[in-house]
Amino acid sequence: MSIEVSPLVDNVKAFLAQPRPFLIDGKWIAARSGATFESLDPATGEVFATVSDGGEKDIDAAVESARRAFDRGWAQAPGAERARLLNRLADLIEAHAEEFAQLDSLDSGKPISLARLADVPTAIGHFRYFSGWATKLSGETIPVSVPGFLNYTVREPIGVVGLIIPWNFPVMFAAVKLAPALCAGCTVVLKPAEQTPLSALRLGELIQEAGFPDGVVNIVPGSGEIAGAALASHPDVDKIAFTGSTEVGRKIIAAAAGNLKKVSLELGGKAPNIVLPDADLDVVADAAADAIFFNQGEACCAGTRLLVHESCRRELVDEVAKRASAIKVGPGLQSDTQMGPLVSQEQLDRVGGYLESGLAQGARIVTGGGRPAGLERGYFLEPTVFEDVEASMTIAQEEIFGPVLTVMSWHDIDDLVQKANDTVYGLAAGIWTNDLKQAHALAARMKAGTVWINCWNAFDPGSPWGGYRQSGWGRETGRLGAEQYTEVKSVWVNMN
Ligand code: ADP
Repeated sequence: MSIEVSPLVDNVKAFLAQPRPFLIDGKWIAARSGATFESLDPATGEVFATVSDGGEKDIDAAVESARRAFDRGWAQAPGAERARLLNRLADLIEAHAEEFAQLDSLDSGKPISLARLADVPTAIGHFRYFSGWATKLSGETIPVSVPGFLNYTVREPIGVVGLIIPWNFPVMFAAVKLAPALCAGCTVVLKPAEQTPLSALRLGELIQEAGFPDGVVNIVPGSGEIAGAALASHPDVDKIAFTGSTEVGRKIIAAAAGNLKKVSLELGGKAPNIVLPDADLDVVADAAADAIFFNQGEACCAGTRLLVHESCRRELVDEVAKRASAIKVGPGLQSDTQMGPLVSQEQLDRVGGYLESGLAQGARIVTGGGRPAGLERGYFLEPTVFEDVEASMTIAQEEIFGPVLTVMSWHDIDDLVQKANDTVYGLAAGIWTNDLKQAHALAARMKAGTVWINCWNAFDPGSPWGGYRQSGWGRETGRLGAEQYTEVKSVWVNMN
């Protein structure tokens, strides 16, 4: 049987053929140390690209470049000009969409179908959406009670911003951070994850083609411990916007303390997916499987904890397990692949550790738990469903970041709410029921930044995204997302 594999487009072949340098001050330059690192194809473990490896001096140079560009006038550029460039960039990504889908699929292992359907259009959507805010971020006139005084506020760009992003949605997270920062008039140093640096670097080429002034966007791949830490602690960086694990989020806060730079964080999650007894189980089974297994479960908003009423637990677990075992696992670039490999051996080992812990603590695997048949190489894992899970178990508390569903049951609404909120996280929650009154009442009791009622993974660049509790600080996307990159100045005028 022949399997259709998406052939690499010429631009991707050419891009991968050369070691990829950094973008600093509008120029493509190698690491000062000459160091490089290799990108591995998660489906085979083989090297397919080489990238310059950022050190402290490279980060210093990138920050200096961003500072110069800020001072040279990007901050004062008319909003309409920033909007024009953001729109131009969106058009260019659209024209090169397949390249981004291929680079992210190769680098992260994700199914190319998902990259085409979600990652790349979402990236384009963010540039278009935030181009609108470039002309609309405004202050207010405050009706102060001091006689004869005028008081008004203006929003100014925060300055130089370090953007540190993870490997699970590479070009998408680059856009989610770049678009609001640039629309607000900030200049940036983007550090993509070491596992997936390629699409950000290709984006850098299009940023130049779009005509952004040199130094407005600088891109320096490198390790978290060196390049990421250097950016987070840099005394001339005014803000860090980070997406990644809660553990690294804590390190970012500590590193930012030196110059008290502003910090926004989009961190981990352990989202409850709640099923009431009246829900349509066929619909829920499809949605529950999709909520956890899309992108190999490597998503902060993955529906990791299925909280199902005890009356329909058996039926729903069986239905979800049926769907899990039918998922076509394979290399990301293979057209019929529904779930790809995990991003790295390290991630596969980490998830494997959680499987062992679940079994050791008394949970039971209904389906999955092993390497899929016929996939001898690469970082593959079967879609896995655990039942007999107790809320106190490690697999019900910690973010697994892999294709592992934990199923728990509940008996009354207070028991449900207690279990749903019983983790340190608070990113997202889902509720399935035809009783909308109950759904709204439950939404009010969820400690989560986003609640999905009869849906999952509903997103829009206009809708705020972020976490309660240890899932983060601040809100990305929407007006709040753009405002996060501004300072508010209050101006008083004595009119007496
Ligand atoms: P994951 O757990 O999903 O791999 P991480 O939180 O480890 O995510 O990584 C997300 C991003 O944070 C990556 O770009 C990574 O290089 C970066 N990073 C990791 N450690 C640090 C650190 N100590 N300081 C700054 N950035 C870091």
